[in-house]
Amino acid sequence: MIHDLIHESPTLLAADLCIVGAGAAGITLAVESAQKGKKVLVLEGGGATREDSSQSLYDSEIAGLPHRGIHTGRIRVKGGTTVRWGGQILELDALDFTPRPGVPESGWPFPKSTLTPFYERALSLEGLAKVERSDAAVWQDLSLPFTQYDDLEAYLSRWCPEPNFARLHHKTLAEHPNIHLWLHASAVELMTDGQAATGLRCRTLTGKEAIFRAPHYIFALGGIESSRFFLQPRAEGLPWNRSGLLGQNFQDHIDCNAAAVEPLDPKRFHDTFDPIITHGFKYLPKLRLLPQSQAAHGTLNIGSTMSFEDTGKVRGQAKSTVRNLIRARFSEVTRDNLRHTAKHLPMLVHQAWRYKVQRRAYSPPEVRIFLRVHCEQEPTSRSRITLTDQRDPLGLLRIRFDWQISERELDTIRQYVLVAQRVLANVARIIPNEDLMSGSPNFLARCDDSNHHMGGMRMSTSDATGIVDTDLRLYGLTNTYICSSAVFPSSGFSNPTHTVLALALRLSDHLK
Ligand SMILES: Cc1cc2nc3c(=O)[nH]c(=O)nc-3n(C[C@H](O)[C@H](O)[C@H](O)COP(=O)(O)OP(=O)(O)OC[C@H]3O[C@@H](n4cnc5c(N)ncnc54)[C@H](O)[C@@H]3O)c2cc1C
Repeated sequence: MIHDLIHESPTLLAADLCIVGAGAAGITLAVESAQKGKKVLVLEGGGATREDSSQSLYDSEIAGLPHRGIHTGRIRVKGGTTVRWGGQILELDALDFTPRPGVPESGWPFPKSTLTPFYERALSLEGLAKVERSDAAVWQDLSLPFTQYDDLEAYLSRWCPEPNFARLHHKTLAEHPNIHLWLHASAVELMTDGQAATGLRCRTLTGKEAIFRAPHYIFALGGIESSRFFLQPRAEGLPWNRSGLLGQNFQDHIDCNAAAVEPLDPKRFHDTFDPIITHGFKYLPKLRLLPQSQAAHGTLNIGSTMSFEDTGKVRGQAKSTVRNLIRARFSEVTRDNLRHTAKHLPMLVHQAWRYKVQRRAYSPPEVRIFLRVHCEQEPTSRSRITLTDQRDPLGLLRIRFDWQISERELDTIRQYVLVAQRVLANVARIIPNEDLMSGSPNFLARCDDSNHHMGGMRMSTSDATGIVDTDLRLYGLTNTYICSSAVFPSSGFSNPTHTVLALALRLSDHLK
């Protein structure tokens, strides 16, 4: 059932599990735990739809490089950031879990095989139960070769057909008798007896409070807010921060156009790199640097996609005119719309044919193409989350956010472009970005974050080197867990949410 703390007063204040945050991780945990027979309280700080007042709780001070994601890359609403994300699903590489010589603090406390069964289970909760697991089978179905290259591995990512988790799981959240989801219930204080959490104080922006209790508390607040909540000062200090690492070693994925790309044989190029849409699922062709090449070049983990510069606006306008005509909404069609559509009609026909017959996204011949690189940040990254002395309207101290990109990370991007230039020489002319290759600081301005917020609450086998243990339990408390990419010790370059969901399912089994 879904309630709103602003308008209702809870009668049920205790359950088997208290899950804080109803984003990708919180919703997955709630659905899975309810289906296992647990009574679950889900406490969500935002409302049913996006509100400026809730969103402004995330306002932060930027101390380092510009970072879009701190403000636009996390959404405080039911569904969390899945109301805006792309829904692209990838596993981390086996290499990301392994300590690498020359990459300090790399690896996880367990191998990838520990997560393998949970990655598989996560697909069902992402609406991807029927997606094709084998890349080779996807290419075979398209009657196209599955091309591989020296030093670069070709592979496919998969995309959730319904990326908004609030919508995807609406029926279960609204109707499952074991779930009570409270909106506008922002966690402001975790009460403890020194050993265990004993209650969670939640507050609305209208000043109403309630205390929720359960034997276990799971915080699923997202990659940045998790560190913020546990950094808030307490009279007894922060027992979970014996290592002093809370908020430290934040990692994002550096996203940038590192080279221009000119295909030698456009048909072959588009057949290899255009997005695939088949049997109701989207797959995106990608490349990654093989582990032995990373070791040989002394790089971090890195991969790329071909980015087709957006001509969507032109097509989008023409498409909406065609849609209005088909649905007889003639009043919405202007003379200019008709002229514009007539001009682009051949392109629209080609696009429809490419999509329906060839099951591929369409890129017009004049489109500009870039090698869009996704680069790992060092596990010992100097980026960090600390607090300012400014409080938000709920009374929590706001964040000072310091994002840094290291010389080693930039060098990884350079090495990758050179490998791609050599390896793809008979596929395309790769023209490296001059600022990147010359080491000009201008290149930093071309580097975006990826809205992938990782690190800050490192998972480790000891409280001297981490904030949570290998079961995601917060050090210093016996019954409190963190389910978020904040716990990633190494973050690779793959989109993180599929791994967060695998961790959520593993945690749910652990608490069984
Ligand atoms: C534009 C964009 C594209 C992206 N594309 C991808 C992609 O393709 N693939 C991928 O893997 N990742 C992608 N991401 C990242 C992805 O959205 C996040 O990794 C994912 O949403 C994290 O899930 P979460 O549950 O940990 O956090 P969130 O989804 O952010 O959920 C956290 C929840 O906690 C709530 N909350 C916060 N503080 C409190 C509090 N004090 N009390 C109660 N509730 C609170 C929030 O309101 C929110 O509902 C993208 C992000 C963006 C912005």
